[in-house]
Amino acid sequence: MELIVLGSSSKGNCYLFKAGSKAKEECLVLEAGIPFTAVKKALNFNLNSVVGVLCSHRHGDHAKYLHKFAETGITCYANADVIESMPDSAKPLCKEIKSMHGYKVGGYKVFVLPMNHDVPCHGFVIEHAEMGRVFFATDTFAIKYRVADINYYMIEANYNDEVLDENIASGKTHGVMRDRLLQSHMEASMTATFLTKCDLKRTKQVMLLHLSENNSDEKMCVRKVERATGKPTYVLHAGDEISL
Ligand SMILES: [Zn+2]
Ligand SMILES: [Zn+2]
Repeated sequence: MELIVLGSSSKGNCYLFKAGSKAKEECLVLEAGIPFTAVKKALNFNLNSVVGVLCSHRHGDHAKYLHKFAETGITCYANADVIESMPDSAKPLCKEIKSMHGYKVGGYKVFVLPMNHDVPCHGFVIEHAEMGRVFFATDTFAIKYRVADINYYMIEANYNDEVLDENIASGKTHGVMRDRLLQSHMEASMTATFLTKCDLKRTKQVMLLHLSENNSDEKMCVRKVERATGKPTYVLHAGDEISL
């Protein structure tokens, strides 16, 4: 199984899970915030291999290009408000997802979890025979549910309080940003605290997502989470290709 990162920030999010052999590839797209042309290129224009697209919420950095997939005949799994905002040409290929429901997407099993953002948002537990279970949570200031037997965490560490405080004090970041972040995104210490409460027995790696360009310090995020969990931790960037 390969995980290809096409974007992991407020500029655009998209991840590709690629299972199977070259002859019979099965790809699951996670988030649609990167231009469709870039996704097609990353798939070597083999769109037939895509079993579906999962979209967490309606913000452009996650959903902007979702309709392009649907218009190409690929099934898109998204919240009702995301589907509502799509052009009519895309709607027939959209499936509404609901919290605490499971879906079979090709050889992938997907379970949907509620997140806490400033618009309706979902996280996913994605399971495939080749990689085990991945816990995916982004754009959320808190995570309510913990799931057993997770092999990989893909989890938001959006900002560091230390960096945000400094930026607000120096005027680089406006003070109201703190109020917005508190109700929408995950601070790195919160990410670490959440993970320490999880059963990490089967966890191989922690991948951190969606870091803020201005209000985070990558090394600090990694250090905090690695210290708290004792698991190899790294930040995902566009262009990364990881074997799971
Ligand atoms: Zn986002
Ligand atoms: Zn968002």
